[in-house]
Amino acid sequence: MTTGDSSRRCNNSDRKRKHHMAFSTRRLTWLVLFFTLISLSAAISRAQTPAVKPKPRPHSEPAVALSQHPKLVVLLVVDQMRADYVDKFRGQWSGGLKRLVDEGAWYRAAAYPYAATETCVGHSTISTGSFPSTHGMIANQWWDRSSQTVTTCTGDPAVQNIGYAGTPTKGGDSAVRMLMPSFAEELKFQTGGATRIVTFSLKARAAITMAGHKGAAVTWFENGGWVTSSAYGTMPFIETYAKEHPVAEDYGKTWKLSLPESDYFYDEKAFGAATPPGWTLEFPHALRGSSDSTKPDADFYNQWSTSPYSDDYLTHLAESAIDSLGLGKGGATDFLGVSYSAIDYVGHRYGPRSREIQDILITLDRSLGELFAHLDRKVGRENYVVALSADHGAAPIPEDMARTGVDTGILHLPELKAAIVKALEPFNFPKPANAQDSQFPIASISSGDLYFDPSVYDHIRDTAGAMQAVTAAAMSVPGVAAIYWSEDLQNSAATQDRIRAAVKASFLPNRSGDLYFVPKPYWLIDGSPKESKPSGGTGHGAPYNYDQHVPVLLMGFGIQPGEYFREVTPADIAPTLAALCGVTLAPRDGHILAEALVTKTTAARPRPTSTPAP
Ligand SMILES: [Zn+2]
Repeated sequence: MTTGDSSRRCNNSDRKRKHHMAFSTRRLTWLVLFFTLISLSAAISRAQTPAVKPKPRPHSEPAVALSQHPKLVVLLVVDQMRADYVDKFRGQWSGGLKRLVDEGAWYRAAAYPYAATETCVGHSTISTGSFPSTHGMIANQWWDRSSQTVTTCTGDPAVQNIGYAGTPTKGGDSAVRMLMPSFAEELKFQTGGATRIVTFSLKARAAITMAGHKGAAVTWFENGGWVTSSAYGTMPFIETYAKEHPVAEDYGKTWKLSLPESDYFYDEKAFGAATPPGWTLEFPHALRGSSDSTKPDADFYNQWSTSPYSDDYLTHLAESAIDSLGLGKGGATDFLGVSYSAIDYVGHRYGPRSREIQDILITLDRSLGELFAHLDRKVGRENYVVALSADHGAAPIPEDMARTGVDTGILHLPELKAAIVKALEPFNFPKPANAQDSQFPIASISSGDLYFDPSVYDHIRDTAGAMQAVTAAAMSVPGVAAIYWSEDLQNSAATQDRIRAAVKASFLPNRSGDLYFVPKPYWLIDGSPKESKPSGGTGHGAPYNYDQHVPVLLMGFGIQPGEYFREVTPADIAPTLAALCGVTLAPRDGHILAEALVTKTTAARPRPTSTPAP
């Protein structure tokens, strides 16, 4: 792998896209009793006619479940949405985000308790209700010891990606590396298979982890079009939608400020920002690709992904799924997951303190307002529950943060590598024939995980002073706050040290690196050499509040509105949805957000009256 792939500043997907992206009331009425009786009598009459081979049918629970459980669960993930965006910007919202805050249960102190605050990890945590040490999605990518290659979290050689409307694909993606079932999968399994699972995102690692392992409509954006894989199979309505609404139709559109210029909190040019190719630091941003292009090119698809137009497209795809499949009108609770990726792309480039971030939240608020209005009409306001969160936050741009005088900077991975290689030189560990010259004795650095050549790691552990030499060398590199050896993580007891506890919650033996390094607060990990010109922009992936603190909002069926400052985690979303749907999840990492649920007691509680006490 190249060092660029391991950079958190401009994440893997971003780099990848540069090259080939163009191409990611409860009403227990007589009606229910009536339908329950009908289904029971139908079951009895089928049982009396043994000559016909009975079709496999769902268990009888769902018929009752319809009255007691939501008809549709809607999971929304906003990629890279920091929790403080709600506090800062909600005064300018009038659509779906405002409705979630005003009508929902708003958890203001929700944070990931683990270190690897990346997209695949966050989505898997929300989806399964467990931490990476349990669900196994420890990063967006890692070094796979069995194949001795870097794999993405969704990489699966046993499946083949399939493009809609002629979209070219290569490779295969699935949830084979996710070690826990998603909430949606458990819902389907425990309701006898009637649940429809539909997810959309620009990113495979978001769409796939929200849905789970197989048998669902899972769609992401790649090579300028929409893609799924043989693990899931295709859906005719998506083929039709993709043909009728090619993304290329947005070519030539322009992202303009949504509000008067005086309503924006930040300078016209975000300090220290980076721009997608073809764009400047100033609004408006035209979706016209590279400067000399006359038709959709790779830069156009990159711009589109970094604009409100991709969020709007995902909303329209979701509306199409609701209509085409009749989501919320089936025999069991259905599941719709949408992960909005544009904010992540905008955030990496322009940073959290930018007009671009402020504006794309205004446009997302409008898009979500439209989605909720559609759900109200088609599913019924009282029949669906919505959960919204984010997979991680983002650090301030270091150049911007530096203006406050705070210690900030770039942790250059080549510098870290060189220091460790040099520290190990005196030990003269034998080099296996297949070792890569340029990297030996390091096999790979991927996010915070560092992997040694497998033969060397045994020597390091067995040789007096070797581990200490590596530790001292790594700690001498600017920006390194701490390093943790895998052996130590595996064998150490629970700890009160928040950073060590976070690294432990991210750690999975055999999959995680031989050592894990943590940057200092406000320092970004970057794959570029120390001498290179700063790329600008920002990233995420560290165990600090700016990356860990995200919104958690619940609204609709069974939700008790309120505002809560209790410290919770996004892993609490799945157990809470499971409680609403009457299903059980295996992992015990997340907990039910009990105060946000309507119970018999809260539902029956008399409203306060103005009658004076006697
Ligand atoms: Zn993300």
